[in-house]
Amino acid sequence: MSIYNRTALGFALVILLVVTIGIFSVLTVKSLTVETERLYKHPFTVSNAARDIDMNLVSMHRYMKDVVLSQNNAELEKAIGQVNQHEKNVFNSFNTIFERYLGNKEQILKVYQSFISWRDIRAEVIALKRMGKSDAAAQITKGKGARHVHLLSAQTHELVDFAANKATEFRDKSRNNERQGIIVLAVLSTLACVLSVTIAIYIIRRQAFAAEEIKKRSHLIDQNIMIAQLDIHGNVTSISNALCRFLEYLPDEIINTPSHFFIAPEYNDVDLEDSIWRVLKTGTQWQNEIKYITQSGYTKWAKLTVVPNVNKDYDIEGYTCLLQDMTSKKMSLTDNLTTLGNRRQYEDVLAHEIRLAKRNDSYLTLAILDIDFFKNYNDLYGHPQGDAALAQVSKAILSCMRRPNDFTFRIGGEEFAILFSSTGPDDARAFLDNIRHCVKVLEIAHAASKVSEFLTVSIGGTTLKGSAIRDGEHMYIDADKALYLAKETRNMTVMG
Ligand code: GH3
Ligand code: MG
Ligand code: MG
Repeated sequence: MSIYNRTALGFALVILLVVTIGIFSVLTVKSLTVETERLYKHPFTVSNAARDIDMNLVSMHRYMKDVVLSQNNAELEKAIGQVNQHEKNVFNSFNTIFERYLGNKEQILKVYQSFISWRDIRAEVIALKRMGKSDAAAQITKGKGARHVHLLSAQTHELVDFAANKATEFRDKSRNNERQGIIVLAVLSTLACVLSVTIAIYIIRRQAFAAEEIKKRSHLIDQNIMIAQLDIHGNVTSISNALCRFLEYLPDEIINTPSHFFIAPEYNDVDLEDSIWRVLKTGTQWQNEIKYITQSGYTKWAKLTVVPNVNKDYDIEGYTCLLQDMTSKKMSLTDNLTTLGNRRQYEDVLAHEIRLAKRNDSYLTLAILDIDFFKNYNDLYGHPQGDAALAQVSKAILSCMRRPNDFTFRIGGEEFAILFSSTGPDDARAFLDNIRHCVKVLEIAHAASKVSEFLTVSIGGTTLKGSAIRDGEHMYIDADKALYLAKETRNMTVMG
């Protein structure tokens, strides 16, 4: 399960627990209210009604004495009226009790019957009194009347006791409910707290772990990936240690300085940076191999990729430069002095171009260019100046390379191979003559040359259709033969 699912599940559980606590609290409060209502509706009402009966009985008994002691008819009727009033109250109270009593109804019935029996006694006393038999009436009232009232009072007290017990039962139940509610709420709240703390710890630990991972990865990138961020003007805003090592600078020496896309000024023909800017401004990335000369004079090569950083509105906000060290690969394929491809690269490219020419049956030209009287040049001007002249010649040849599959290699001391496809031998000769011309117009003084006051070159070339090519070696032999012929006069192009 992913971290997101786990966290979501944890939060869902906490929410579930909190909702359960809420629902449980509402239910507990409700049950307490119900118990209180039941307490009020039943035991409380019943006990009040039973007490009412008792009080009314006492009053009725007292008014029965008034009945017995009445001196005239008016007094008698008044007392009877009082008795009837209290009797009515008793009936009302019995109705309430019948309605609300939670115990056995037989019990009420018994008291009720007892009350009905008392009514008979009452009726007998009133009848005797009306007949003028006051003594007999007094006898009954004091005797069985009083006993019956006592009995009824005791019976109503039983009802009061029952109601009181019921009330105690309800109260105990409420207390029990309250205790259980507190326990359940405490357990649920503790669970919710524990779960919340667990989730919090889990998230914190995951974050710490993620932060540690990011730190490790950043360190890895910083130490191993050559990367830099540039602002919109091309100034360096951040740079990895790996790139600083490659450039042989400290980060502080580079940050906030113009990057010039890390192209060495010595190498940089002015147009290169402009051309990078032109490409980048269109929003596309720029990629190419660049040469870099370090502070300590080492030549390094890198594959440079510059990617525009765009915001959500696709406006360019800066650039990311990614460099890949190509030095060792490049060194094994290039010549240090001229930075042209060396013999190894020449052989690889020649084989590849022959395959292409054969596939398309197109013209392929291989030419060998050799500087005239170069031994003399060295002898006269010294070897270091000879080296400088070699570098100048190679640049001149390079400046004539126009298409992606025009190649130049330094295959020997002052010997260059030129490889290109053309529409035919005449076209090829014109291309090579132009190179020869480009070298000549450098006007490198050569006082020891027997053919010119300036440094010149001889070129021997061969142009073949793909189907006519045997292999690279044979093409080289043909070109070399042509060069041999060119050397007869020098400063000359001969096609074999
Ligand atoms: P030719 O016109 O017949 O070609 O006369 P050449 O003197 O140029 O004869 P060759 O091609 O045999 O001479 C090669 C000379 O090139 C020998 C050496 O002094 C010089 N040379 C070869 N490699 C280098 C190099 O790396 N630097 C310098 N300065 N000179 C080199
Ligand atoms: Mg030579
Ligand atoms: Mg030579």
